[in-house]
Parts: sequence; C-alpha cells; structure tokens
Amino acid sequence: MSKFFTEKYSSLEPYAPGEQPKDLQYIKLNTNESPFSPAESVAKAIEKEAKSLNLYSDPECVTLREKVAKVLGVKSENIIMTNGSDEVINFAFMAFADEKNTLIFPDITYGFYPVFAGLNRIPYQEIPLKDDFSIDVNDYIGVNKTIVIANPNAPTGLFLPLEDIEKIVLSNKDNVVIIDEAYIDFGGESAVKLTEKYDNLLVTGTFSKSRSLAGARLGFGVANEKIINNLNTIKYSTNPYNVNRLTAVAGEAVLDENDYYMNNCKKIIENREFTKCKLQELGFEVLNSSANFLFAKCDKIDGKTLYLKLKEKGVLIRHFDKERINDYNRITIGTKEQMEILIQKIKEIFKEKQL
Ligand code: PMP
Repeated sequence: MSKFFTEKYSSLEPYAPGEQPKDLQYIKLNTNESPFSPAESVAKAIEKEAKSLNLYSDPECVTLREKVAKVLGVKSENIIMTNGSDEVINFAFMAFADEKNTLIFPDITYGFYPVFAGLNRIPYQEIPLKDDFSIDVNDYIGVNKTIVIANPNAPTGLFLPLEDIEKIVLSNKDNVVIIDEAYIDFGGESAVKLTEKYDNLLVTGTFSKSRSLAGARLGFGVANEKIINNLNTIKYSTNPYNVNRLTAVAGEAVLDENDYYMNNCKKIIENREFTKCKLQELGFEVLNSSANFLFAKCDKIDGKTLYLKLKEKGVLIRHFDKERINDYNRITIGTKEQMEILIQKIKEIFKEKQL
C-alpha cells in the first residue's frame, strides 16, 4: 500500500473475482459465464459500430433501453443501463443506503455486496440463511433497512418465490428492496412485473449470463421512474458514458435475437439437471438450483481437495474458503460435453483416491 492511499479506503477488502486463466486449456466452470458464444450478429454489429468510436456513446442508451423495455414488458423510462449489473448495484447502494438506511442481506450470497457496502462506508447486517440455505422471509419483514437479495441466490442457486418477495417489498415501504436477478433466466420467475405496483422495488439484471455478453459488461435496473432518476443522478455524477458504443450495439443485437439466447438457457437447464443426476449418482448432495450453476458437496472428499484435483485435471470450478460453505463447490453449467468431462474427471479422482 502506498503512503498516499487515503485512510477511508485502507481497510477495504476488494472483491476476489474467479480465476481467469490466460491459457485456454481449462474447461471453465468457475465464473458462471455462458458456454455459448454470442450469435454472429453481435460481431457484425460491433464491427460496424467500430467506425464511430471517435464519438462518445449515448449516455441515455435510448435504443437499447427501448429494446430492453420491449423484452421485459415495461416502459423505457423504468430502465437504466449500466456497465454490468455490478455497477447498478453499486449505484443503488450509493443512492439508497447510508448510516441511517443501513443494508441487510443474507450471510451467504453474492460477495460483492459487502464490498460495495465497505466502499461506500454503509453499515450492513448479514442474516444467516436457514440450515438448508433457504431464506427465512420473516427475517426481512418490516426491517426498515435497505434490503438486497439475489434471486436465485448465489452461490446456492435457490429461488425465493415471488409471493415471498412481494411480502418483503410490501412490509418495507420506506426502504428500497433490491432484487438481483442475475440468474433469473434459468428457471426463476422475475419480479420485474412487480415494479409497476411498488415504488420501493428495484430489480437488477445482466447480459453476462443468459445473454452471453460477460466480456462486454452490460447490466440494467428496472424500477419506478423516481428510483431510476435517482440512479441516473449517481450515474451522471460518476460516468455518463458507462455503456460504451460497442457494448450498446452488442446488447441491441442480442435483444434482436432473443430466441437464440432463450433457447441456450433451455439447453443449460437440461445440462444442469443431467449434471445434478450424475453428481447424485456419485454420492453428492446437490442443492435445487434455478441458476446456471450447481452448489454441491460430497462426504467422500472435502470441497477444497476436489477443487484442486479438478484444476490439476484441467477443469476449473469455484471453491469458497468461507465458513458454512467450505465443503461445497459451485459448478457452472457448460455444454453437455463439458459436463460429461467434469463427471469423468470426478470419477477418475475417486478412483485414484480409492473412494
Ligand atoms: N449478481 C450476482 C448474484 C452475480 O453472481 C453476478 C456475477 N458475478 C453479478 C450480480 C454481476 O454480474 P455482472 O456485473 O457481470 O452483470
């Protein structure tokens, strides 16, 4: 740390992203990306747009927002586009949480929430998930805090039904409830339609998972117009051009071929259920995932050893060195072939260890 680093950030614990190895020998099942490339129309749109890179991007993302609005069935005034959904989550923390409106989220959830809270110096409370890793809705009724819930949750993959979300939103009318739907297209039911009914609900989404654009960085928020205006105040005070030209046209091209991406989601769901069965046959306990990953443990081998052994064999999965979930690994769902290789490699490890 340099002597110039300000005291306010000196104790900041930054987010640790999943490994992104430079050599592409690995089967990458560690960062919940899509195994499918974007459709060809994305590359074509980017190539065409590259000629205009001398000009700034549209800070309002008018065309993109209109397309997102159409797909989600809301008005474009109810949408903000951001540099990944991480950015809209950070904007929301900045806009709607402080010393008075502190944050509350589950103890096991997306690792960026405590980091953004730390960055913005917002006190937060972590509510333990139940023993089966489900959320106890009662913990969030009338708490008078700014709530953030990933639904489906990560890394568990468990989905909280919409009735429960609605109860939480209804009972916290003086606070914003942020529902992070990064994984919603893999089996959950979106809360977007509730944003018309409740002025304290913000739903965030991303193009990184179901829409194959993790590397382009595109996310969005959906809410009542007043909430969107507040988020825009933060956006225009940090970086009005947060969505660059290439990403904007990539997003538009993706939305023009929605069927391709939704069909990929179907394949991922099929592969997920296939992998779940195979892991269970091998003695794994696997949570009921509504996301593009599985959260699983096996009594025969501890989580870290399995992660390391699979890495040696060229398959990357994600292990979290965190209390309560040490035994588990999060496995991103790839193509059928990739999942078959994963199962094969686990069988090899079991054989070598005579398990
Ligand atoms: N929310 C959750 C629960 C996530 O797992 C992720 C991806 N790591 C994000 C949000 C952010 O994704 P992105 O910034 O790529 O949209």
